[in-house]
Amino acid sequence: MSKKLLSPKDQRRFLDNIDSGDREDCWPWQGGVQRRPNGEEYPIFYFNGTQKPAHRILWRVYYSNYLRKDEVIQHTCDHSWCMNPNHIYKVDRELDAREHAKERVRRRQGYGENHPKARLSDQEIAEIRHRVKNGELRKDVAAEFGISKSYVSMLVKRKRRRGV
Ligand SMILES: [Zn+2]
Repeated sequence: MSKKLLSPKDQRRFLDNIDSGDREDCWPWQGGVQRRPNGEEYPIFYFNGTQKPAHRILWRVYYSNYLRKDEVIQHTCDHSWCMNPNHIYKVDRELDAREHAKERVRRRQGYGENHPKARLSDQEIAEIRHRVKNGELRKDVAAEFGISKSYVSMLVKRKRRRGV
C-alpha cells in the first residue's frame, strides 16, 4: 500500500462507510466488498483510482501507523465485515498462516470425533485395519487418525468403506 495519506475528503468518505456504534458493538461496513475464495466478504475502499483492503486503511486512520507488507489484520470478533477499530489487531503473516494450519488440524480432529465418516484415504484405512489386527488398541489408533473409536471398529469389521 502506498504511504500516501488519505486526503481529508477521502478520509471523511471512508468513515462515512462505517456504521459506528458502541465500543463493544460490531460496526458494519457499508461500502464495497470483495468476495474471497473462502466465501467471506471483505470490505474494500476505492481511492486514488484503486481498491484497497478497508481494514488496512482503518488501521492507518485509527492507529496512525502503517502496516508492513508482512502484517495482516485479524478480528477479535470474527466478523470480516466489522470495522470497529477496537475489534482488530495485527499479526505477522507467517504466524497467521501457522495459526490457520493449526485450525485446520483442530477442525479435522473435531470432524472425526463428531462424525464417524471422517475422510480417510484408502491407504490410511488399510493401515488402521492392519494395526488393529496386529494388536494395537483401537482407542490409540483412533486418536492418532483423529477419528472415533467406534469408526475404527466399523472399519475393522468392514461395515464402512467396504470397497477398500
Ligand atoms: Zn466486531
